[in-house]
Amino acid sequence: MAPTIVGQDLTVVLEALQAAVAPGAFTADPDALAARAVDASFIPPDGDPIALVAPRTTDEVSAVMRLAHSRGIPVVPQGGLTGLAGGASAVAGAILLDLSRMTTISRIDTDDHVAVAQPGVITEHLANAAAEHGLFYPPDPASWSTSTIGGNVATNAGGMRCVKYGVTRDWVRTLQVVLADGTVIHTRPGTVKAVAGLDLTSLFVGSEGTLGIVTEVTVALLPAPGPSRGVSAGFPSVATALRAANAIMAGPHRPSTLELLDAVVVEAVCRLEPGAGLPAGAGAWLFAVTDALVGADDDLAEFARVARAHGASSVEVADDEADVARLLAARRLLNPAMREYRGASLNEDVCVPRSQLPAVLAAIEELSREIGLPIGTGGHVGDGNLHPVVAYDPARPEELAVARTAHHRIMALAVEHGGTVSGEHGIGTEKLGALPMELTPRVRDLQVALKGVLDPKGICNPGKKL
Ligand SMILES: Cc1cc2nc3c(=O)[nH]c(=O)nc-3n(C[C@H](O)[C@H](O)[C@H](O)COP(=O)(O)OP(=O)(O)OC[C@H]3O[C@@H](n4cnc5c(N)ncnc54)[C@H](O)[C@@H]3O)c2cc1C
Repeated sequence: MAPTIVGQDLTVVLEALQAAVAPGAFTADPDALAARAVDASFIPPDGDPIALVAPRTTDEVSAVMRLAHSRGIPVVPQGGLTGLAGGASAVAGAILLDLSRMTTISRIDTDDHVAVAQPGVITEHLANAAAEHGLFYPPDPASWSTSTIGGNVATNAGGMRCVKYGVTRDWVRTLQVVLADGTVIHTRPGTVKAVAGLDLTSLFVGSEGTLGIVTEVTVALLPAPGPSRGVSAGFPSVATALRAANAIMAGPHRPSTLELLDAVVVEAVCRLEPGAGLPAGAGAWLFAVTDALVGADDDLAEFARVARAHGASSVEVADDEADVARLLAARRLLNPAMREYRGASLNEDVCVPRSQLPAVLAAIEELSREIGLPIGTGGHVGDGNLHPVVAYDPARPEELAVARTAHHRIMALAVEHGGTVSGEHGIGTEKLGALPMELTPRVRDLQVALKGVLDPKGICNPGKKL
């Protein structure tokens, strides 16, 4: 579809846009636009954008938004384009606002334990910069070497350490945001405590670019933890592994990571990477990690004791960071390993209360038998966050249709068990159809009304999230 801006002279608009940003920060070249039109969901965009701007300053972002607002042009903010829900993908007639060149870390504060960064800073770079000062930024989405801190804030990204440290929201102290009309605001002071007014910071975190553009992020930091060590245990079944996981969570030895893979995934990973270190033939695999500076030996002893008490068929200690990294790498083979079954896969991201995991996992196993396609589940079980992956043959459209139905039924299952259709990846365009399962019409109306206050012309990432 050719780019259009109804009732406006495209040339005039593009000239004004070019003038709003520094030289070299604007392009309307179709190849450049196509290269940034789709995020990692690979959901095709609904039309062509008109331009790509890649500012380096908040003032430039503000100028772009003023122009877009005055002319009613949609703006799609973009970070690392690693999003899995279509949130950063182009919309017809939009300006793609590439924030990935705003890469300055302006402050690592060793007294107040905060870092201040522009939104395009790669998350791993921020964590490394903190580590150089003996400090620690805990959120660790698996994409952290390619995703940006602005994108993490906009999606409220999670990761493997959430079970101990929480999600991105828990680490955001304050945000600088450029509103739809170009106004620049700070959501709150960067203090530990601040209760004046409503909590706008939380509103912008996870808003997927639909409420405004995050141009500076202040995050809290911790003193560096101890080295990661863990207990890797094979179980006869998912049910026994989940009982062990619950017993660990109920005790005083808090893991920094608690991951599970079911039998389908263990088998797939062992086939793909026989040296990955997973217990071949196990009915489930549980990996409990500690990063405690003090008492790590006690944590490991307790994780191993609980695993044995719940019938673990194998219990091994990963005694240094390299061992832990090797096993986490095996855990991250969930998607590539599942694709090996039939050539392609659909990945889910539901989250349920931990107590509901046994029922939900049993229902997913039953669903797999019913549809005749492999479904393998990995999960951040300490958080109740599951990634069931449905394998299908891309050469057989009827299998894709069945996989899509299964995808939908897994989300419905999660909601029926008090959970959510997305624990980490967001709604974007991919899960818009699933929103009515979870949110009542009244709640959805409230959310649309809130967006209307912040973005009355509806230019911020329209057609996404809400
Ligand atoms: C291999 C892989 C592993 C992943 N692992 C995880 C994981 O463990 N946990 C997890 O939560 N997610 C994970 N993801 C999903 C993805 O990495 C996260 O959603 C991430 O936070 C997106 O960051 P990004 O910079 O790539 O943002 P993008 O994909 O560019 O954008 C994501 C959304 O944020 C908006 N946005 C981006 N920047 C801004 C800004 N500055 N202001 C306003 N809105 C903005 C966009 O409009 C879009 O809606 C993974 C993805 C991949 C490909």
